[in-house]
Amino acid sequence: MAKPLEGDGLIENIYYYAWQREGDDTSFRGFYLPHTVIYKHQQPRSWFYSSGDGTIVKKPKDQLTTLNIEQAFLQSVSKSGIVAYFTYIGKGGIREIEFFEAEELKHFLHYRNKSQDGILQKFIDPKGIKNSQIQMVWSPSICLFEMRENTKDLYDLRYDLYERAVTFEGEEYHSRVMPLRGFEIRNYMRNVGEVLVEHVKLVTDNQMSISRMVIHFKIDAKDRLWLLMATSVRCQSSKPLDLVSLTKLPDTVNPKKVSSNPQNPVSLQKSVLCNNCENPCEVERMCDIAYKFVIDSNSQEIPKLIARNHPKMTLFDYLKHKKNVVFLNKKTLVCDDCYLKFTEPIHYAGAWTERLDYSPSRHLNPTKLSIRREITNLTKSLTPIKSRHLSTVKEKPKRLKRRNKSKEKVNSEAILLSGNKKFPKIPFLNLKRFSEDRSTNVDSLVSSANYFQPEKRKIVDDILKAIEDNR
Ligand SMILES: [Zn+2]
Repeated sequence: MAKPLEGDGLIENIYYYAWQREGDDTSFRGFYLPHTVIYKHQQPRSWFYSSGDGTIVKKPKDQLTTLNIEQAFLQSVSKSGIVAYFTYIGKGGIREIEFFEAEELKHFLHYRNKSQDGILQKFIDPKGIKNSQIQMVWSPSICLFEMRENTKDLYDLRYDLYERAVTFEGEEYHSRVMPLRGFEIRNYMRNVGEVLVEHVKLVTDNQMSISRMVIHFKIDAKDRLWLLMATSVRCQSSKPLDLVSLTKLPDTVNPKKVSSNPQNPVSLQKSVLCNNCENPCEVERMCDIAYKFVIDSNSQEIPKLIARNHPKMTLFDYLKHKKNVVFLNKKTLVCDDCYLKFTEPIHYAGAWTERLDYSPSRHLNPTKLSIRREITNLTKSLTPIKSRHLSTVKEKPKRLKRRNKSKEKVNSEAILLSGNKKFPKIPFLNLKRFSEDRSTNVDSLVSSANYFQPEKRKIVDDILKAIEDNR
């Protein structure tokens, strides 16, 4: 029983028949074949490629190891960084393609769950600097050609891998139809089709007689013709050929995007996982969101997003931190969808204050705050110096420094605090760090939250009072 050839999607047996020899056949069919490994049930089943002289070779079964595949595919890698692509029939029976760079290929070979049967093929550099592919619709009476060329420079690594690689895959705006110029090449390809059809007929004892087919080719820098794949083949059936060659990109790639210039390239690959919905996203789609927008003040449960960011946080800790301004302003990354969801109640500026019943200034005494501000604010504290007819730091810094050293005069409250031994240094000066350290982790939050401890606050208040009295 001959292996089936008729169908749509991925016609893997085309490689098998191209390889089969009859008599003193040279096994050169007018085209070259990149390393092509056919996967069945997650395992490499067969491996075909063209040797140096163009004859098609099938690797012996015992050499079909992951290590051998890795070695062959990583030999003389294209300067584009693209090593290979894996084509398979995905959900809904639609052909899908994934492109790999070296590391991704290694990951694919060694670790990935290859749920689908598919074809792994080595990437061949095209003629010119843009990736291209030719689709040939062959029938005995007529041959139609369509060449698609990617719009981006294949070797401009600033662009996303997919944006540089796709031709018939991807959206229309990633590639354009080019005329396949030259009678010779068209004639040559037509002959290649004819020879292949005759050859298949011969090796199957006339059991397989191809009446029409759609095959994809590529021309390389040395003007050699490479057979990539057959996507639709008819023998007896009168069903129309699948001419569309629709090939989807995987779900982890957003094909709807396109870069307008290389200075501002977009990423098509969704390489980041959203912390909240766990959907893969493109890097630019991620937004910073403060915890205060995530926390529902009425709920006593830890929001999913915060629990995920702080897996060791207990409910007790959470309820404590929920009132901490640093914690509320801590930021995390979510996708734009989640960002919009979280900020939905905030259509107008200020609306969120209603949602959060916690307002940090309410618990602090505004009078005390203003005193603190006055003391820690250097520009403000220097103003009285001028009024006392002393030089300011800005005007004569050296003189001021010398005076300060010799303790001739006390220039301001700020200097007074550090210069006069009567007063200890103010311990709350880490306020700055307190409000600026965005990346504070929970542990350090706990320690900074100590500032609010009553006994510490009492010390601070006492010092403030002493300063007031001393005026
Ligand atoms: Zn999300």
